[in-house]
Amino acid sequence: MHNASDRSSWIAATEASRPLFVGLDLGGTNIKAGMVDDAGRTIAYASQESRVDQGPADVAVRLGGMVGTLCDLAGVASDELAGVGLGTPGPQNLHTGVLYDTGNMPGFEGFPIRDRVAEHCGHAVTFANDATAAAYGEYWTGSGRSLSSMVFWTLGTGIGGGVIIGDSCLEGHHSHATECGHIIVDTSDTARDCPCGQRGHLEAYASATSLVAIAREKLACGAAGPLAEAVAAGEALTPVLIAQAARLGDQLALDLILDAARWMGIGTVNLMHIIDPEGVVLGGAMTFDGEDDPIGRAYIERVRQEVREQAFPVLARETTIQYATLGGDAGYIGAAGLARVAFRRHAGRGS
Ligand SMILES: [Zn+2]
Repeated sequence: MHNASDRSSWIAATEASRPLFVGLDLGGTNIKAGMVDDAGRTIAYASQESRVDQGPADVAVRLGGMVGTLCDLAGVASDELAGVGLGTPGPQNLHTGVLYDTGNMPGFEGFPIRDRVAEHCGHAVTFANDATAAAYGEYWTGSGRSLSSMVFWTLGTGIGGGVIIGDSCLEGHHSHATECGHIIVDTSDTARDCPCGQRGHLEAYASATSLVAIAREKLACGAAGPLAEAVAAGEALTPVLIAQAARLGDQLALDLILDAARWMGIGTVNLMHIIDPEGVVLGGAMTFDGEDDPIGRAYIERVRQEVREQAFPVLARETTIQYATLGGDAGYIGAAGLARVAFRRHAGRGS
């Protein structure tokens, strides 16, 4: 797994292929920032807490300041940068660079974050949804680098998505394309509530939050086994704890994880039938340590099974479904990559 916080994975600025780009990835908890070269290799990396409670103007100042921090770390002059990319939680207006109500960042609605960050760092800023930026990172240098088109899922507290076709990201007329966690998978009267305020959305069945909520409901019905014992002993109910219990043979824990995977399979089939991508990539925190872990393997295999059973035959046979490889670095690498796409388009060099 890619890990930019480990300096040994950086390359020296003297070895970098120019031009150079900076990617900024604003999350509700942390800001991750990296300078990458023309091949997507990290030259310098920095992170800090987002502190969104300090308000959008302060966050924009610090985002802009991180560009200078990276230049200092890399020993690169700011005017050697060809562009800066910024990914933020959506929804946002990608045309005007203004945030809509993002839910987990109160007070940011209506804030012109793209232009403020540009003022503070002195570079034009390419603006993207954070899930789209992560998708582009995986497409450019990660799990999707051999693909010509890709659907990306980011699985964590919520569920995000990104669609990359050629070197283009699907953004939509209103900048709301690929809100893939909010596709409707259950229209029944008992459909679960989604954090967005609607019901029956995929995120209400397959996110980390919903996995824990569903587990809590099952445990309240009197389940026994390692998971019930751990929770009774005071351990916090998390996806990690559920996966640990599943590894110990707890059938309830395994069933919960595989059911979340089944819902992800249904969501994946829906997107395959609309987009028909060459491959599907699953990233984010809730990927159970990936293919190296038995639960990670069981999870993605359950997604693939659902696809085999429900997708059109050619798609079921030929569409690859795999885990992401860049981990938490995908967002800043992709934001830098989108700045590179904008730079190359401006320079008339295509992709
Ligand atoms: Zn929703």
